[in-house]
Amino acid sequence: MSNEPEISYADLIQRAKQQLYDSSETPRIDAEVLLQHVLNKPLAWLLTHGDQIAEPEHLVDFNALIARRQTGEPIAYLTGVREFWSLELAVSPAVLIPRPDTEVLVEQALVLLPADRAIKVLDLGTGSGAIALALAKERPLATVTAVDSSMAALDIARLNATTAQLKNIEFIKSDWFSALEGQRFNLIAANPPYVAEGDPHLGRGDLRFEPDLALASGADGLQALRHIIEQAPNHLEDNGALLVEHGYDQEDAVARLMDQQGLSRKRCFRDLNDLPRCSLALI
Ligand code: GLN
Repeated sequence: MSNEPEISYADLIQRAKQQLYDSSETPRIDAEVLLQHVLNKPLAWLLTHGDQIAEPEHLVDFNALIARRQTGEPIAYLTGVREFWSLELAVSPAVLIPRPDTEVLVEQALVLLPADRAIKVLDLGTGSGAIALALAKERPLATVTAVDSSMAALDIARLNATTAQLKNIEFIKSDWFSALEGQRFNLIAANPPYVAEGDPHLGRGDLRFEPDLALASGADGLQALRHIIEQAPNHLEDNGALLVEHGYDQEDAVARLMDQQGLSRKRCFRDLNDLPRCSLALI
């Protein structure tokens, strides 16, 4: 229990905001989100109950979260959830935190995927299951295969599929295509690791706390993409498509890798910051 003097929710948020100034670019939002999480109440409730005095046990929990946030821990790991494509996904430090930019890949995948046929979709390196779940939800007739080399990630993705009541996804432990011999798909999607090892970004912000396995990929950041693009033609049906997320500066390198596989019908799509973010190749 806390020996702290009584404090209202509004004052608590104000104090936490100041505590987070040096460690976060969004101190007020962080404080509000973390207090909502502790109280298990929506923001509207919090904003209309600012005068209410915080319960001692809530104060203890909230202060502990603020202290962790001060060390830079991502909000999504502190609350254990992140919204993606209107799905509330459980996340843990075993998985990359889903990014809004990856919704661009989902949008483009949906352009390609017919809604009235039993198509087969593969999500390589599914992590929290973000891409797989979004596609399974939007295309109920599709069968989505979601693979990851991390058992801990697959556990999270499976939990998310259960919560979302999606039955058209199967989960397989696989290092990229290793457990998928002989299987072919209409669409292969992936948000693989694509940051170069040693890139200073890995030492900043949320990335410091996210799994290296999901972020870094060889000296040029292209190791996973190279492997995926090389192997994809062995796993695509006729008229199949490969859609991969990549770094803002990897558009040309990815296009070259696709060319080398004879995948000449290509397109690159831009993210919410208008940077090249995912590339499509049709077989
Ligand atoms: N887009 C992530 C970033 O913040 C990287 C994700 C990835 O490597 N797949 O840099």
